[in-house]
Amino acid sequence: MRVEQLGEGEPDLAIVGSIHGDEPCGARAVERLLLEAPDVSRPVKLVVANEEALERNVRYVEEDLNRAFPGAPDADTHEGRLAHELLAELRGCTVLSMHSTQSYDRPFALSTDTDALARAVVPHLGVDALVQTGEFAEGRLIDFIDVVEVECGYQGSDEAAENAYRLCREFLGAVGALGEASPERTDIPVFRLERQLPKPVGATEYETYAENFERVAEGDRYARADDEEFVAERPFYPILLSAYGYENVFGYAGSLVGRLDDHAEADPEPTPER
Ligand SMILES: [Zn+2]
Repeated sequence: MRVEQLGEGEPDLAIVGSIHGDEPCGARAVERLLLEAPDVSRPVKLVVANEEALERNVRYVEEDLNRAFPGAPDADTHEGRLAHELLAELRGCTVLSMHSTQSYDRPFALSTDTDALARAVVPHLGVDALVQTGEFAEGRLIDFIDVVEVECGYQGSDEAAENAYRLCREFLGAVGALGEASPERTDIPVFRLERQLPKPVGATEYETYAENFERVAEGDRYARADDEEFVAERPFYPILLSAYGYENVFGYAGSLVGRLDDHAEADPEPTPER
């Protein structure tokens, strides 16, 4: 794990890249920030998480780091120990964690809920959607600390690295660490992961037919494993859907919850009088 810093003092902000070793966009964004060394008004910790997996260009060495939290110092696996070390580095920090996918070329954000952090930060990020992970947060970093996760684009693409860098700048702007915050967008759609879309293991060829974040109607086919076709039993929104992104699932069936501004209205804090 590589841990660096921008600015002076004890950081309560952190940016994390490459929790997954086959997602170099985050590491590239961190390296670019270190090279530029922008004049931040709040110190920021910069972390490249799974360097061993990154060197081998594999998702993980022994187990998926983003299912291994909280981990332990004497865990059996590299990622189990790394999870513990990474959590120790990030505790007390507001965190942006960068990922990339095989399912979608444009950025979107993930959080456990539309919590205060998501409401404060996500409207300032150039993302297509916010996805609530619901019950699927288990073992992920997102379940343990204040973190906004972003999917930056296709794994290994230059575009994902460029998006990752831009999202870092937007995050730092949103939290008042660098420059002006980007204009607020509250029309960002909010989806929620409802269930996994199981995928049979061992087929020769997989294919998906549906577009992520676009509604699949009841009776529509959305995927194929060799000759076996998968048809929606009820309508859903595909999220993280891809032919080869995951071993056991095509991705997730989600629901459209609303827009970010709907949640702003549900804020329990009193609105100031006009
Ligand atoms: Zn990832």
